[in-house]
Amino acid sequence: MENWEGSPSGASSTARQSPVRPETLVIGGGIAGIQAALEIANAGEKVYLVEKSGTIGGHMAMFDKTFPTLDCAACILTPKMVEIAQHPNIDLLTLSQVTAVDGAPGNFSVTVEKKARQVTEADCIGCGMCAEQCPKSVPSEFDAGTGMRKAAYIPFPQAVPNKYLIDRENCLYAKNGKCKLCVGACPANCIDLDEEDATVSIAVGNIIVAVGFQVFDAARAENFGYGRFDNVITSLEFERLVNASGPTGGVLSLAVRDKRKRRVFLPESPKPEQVAIIHCVGSRDCNHNQWCSRVCCMYSLKFAHLVKEKLPDCEVFEFYIDMRAFGKGYEEFYDRIRGEGVHVVRGRTATVEGSGSKLKLRTEDIVNARLLEQELDMVILSVGLEPNAQAGELARMLGISVDHNKWFIESSMGAAPTETSNAGIHLAGACQGPKDIPDTVAQASDAAARVLRSILHGRAEPPLGSLLPRPGTTAVPALDQRSES
Ligand SMILES: Cc1cc2nc3c(=O)[nH]c(=O)nc-3n(C[C@H](O)[C@H](O)[C@H](O)COP(=O)(O)OP(=O)(O)OC[C@H]3O[C@@H](n4cnc5c(N)ncnc54)[C@H](O)[C@@H]3O)c2cc1C
Repeated sequence: MENWEGSPSGASSTARQSPVRPETLVIGGGIAGIQAALEIANAGEKVYLVEKSGTIGGHMAMFDKTFPTLDCAACILTPKMVEIAQHPNIDLLTLSQVTAVDGAPGNFSVTVEKKARQVTEADCIGCGMCAEQCPKSVPSEFDAGTGMRKAAYIPFPQAVPNKYLIDRENCLYAKNGKCKLCVGACPANCIDLDEEDATVSIAVGNIIVAVGFQVFDAARAENFGYGRFDNVITSLEFERLVNASGPTGGVLSLAVRDKRKRRVFLPESPKPEQVAIIHCVGSRDCNHNQWCSRVCCMYSLKFAHLVKEKLPDCEVFEFYIDMRAFGKGYEEFYDRIRGEGVHVVRGRTATVEGSGSKLKLRTEDIVNARLLEQELDMVILSVGLEPNAQAGELARMLGISVDHNKWFIESSMGAAPTETSNAGIHLAGACQGPKDIPDTVAQASDAAARVLRSILHGRAEPPLGSLLPRPGTTAVPALDQRSES
């Protein structure tokens, strides 16, 4: 096992009076983890940022524009990502996951499993020759499956680190030992297809959990035909299709089948003339998730604007249950979109079916007390946010709580919204519950401030929740059980 810096500090056993190690571990490199890491590092303290994928950026890196200001997402995020890569106080561990946490608040020892990149980061010049030669193509996760990537690849052009990596699950050499084309093509001679995973050990005083969310699997809402109809797409797919760095260069076109019968999006394909956006797919639905995902109304309105911007003559419909435009400038954004000629229909959508080359949507229209049928070329499903699939496992490892849905629980909603039931372990971003980017950033800065305070005071503060009497248990009860307890 490799020792990742740091010497042991004064041992501590109590949560209240621990001398606190100044190093902090941030788990998850989305906008929450990035913001928290930069706040702490810029205050002069050391941060280990552990990210499970090959790049930091999280979901925000996939977006074209952000509501309600329609700011370019990359213009906000990319400079922060670059700052992470260059910061002398930040050690970035990508392709890495925390597998064990021991010790006490103020002095945790953490084990991290680091997958082999099989490309030496320091030597890779990012020329892309390996990807050019690689014979294996698979759907790109970053493009939400709307485009392809090679088994030797870089997640996206602005990835941090801006280095290629080998996807061993799809690499032909890893599978049958036969292909080494990337090795021969690499001018920097920095590909080692036999490099093995490593275990890294780090010591930290505080931990910030920022592992974010995953989106609802649209195929589960069978009535909307995702997977059956090529032009029923998800919100993440739409984000990539309208993005200038996406597979169509930002041209919104209909899906077609290529020679191998694969669904592809090509800039030259026919354009949609009628597009519907269905809200609350997988959210506020007793068949799936009952919670409101909080961001879908707003990102759906953003989508309507983007369709109109790309295709001014396209008819756009929003089918919604309630319009939850709750944030600063959000109601005004809703007004703006209505002013752009978007049809806004209130009612729960029942089905999407195929009808020749068209789609047919059936919905209620509550305001006009009628049932509607609408022919369409493209349907966008505004899928909700779900807890990270690893949340339960991570919570057990860290000794903190998740509610019955698996969102991490804060120690006190009002007084300590980023602390957990375990001193020294904090929350940031959408892993605590669905959240937009402004709230995520504010919460990440709060988590960082609490870490800095504990370092400054030399104390791992006991969380507020743990001071409250809870007969029989130290765990915070599930959110929706609080009123009963
Ligand atoms: C389609 C869509 C459009 C949206 N548009 C907007 C918008 O316009 N404006 C807005 O304000 N909000 C928008 N949002 C919401 C926005 O995506 C979130 O607010 C934001 O991404 C939350 O950031 P996060 O860092 O908490 O989570 P994420 O972005 O999910 O990042 C989490 C990171 O943690 C990593 N990770 C996960 N598990 C582990 C692990 N075990 N170990 C290490 N790393 C791990 C992930 O790989 C990822 O990098 C949108 C959401 C969606 C779905």
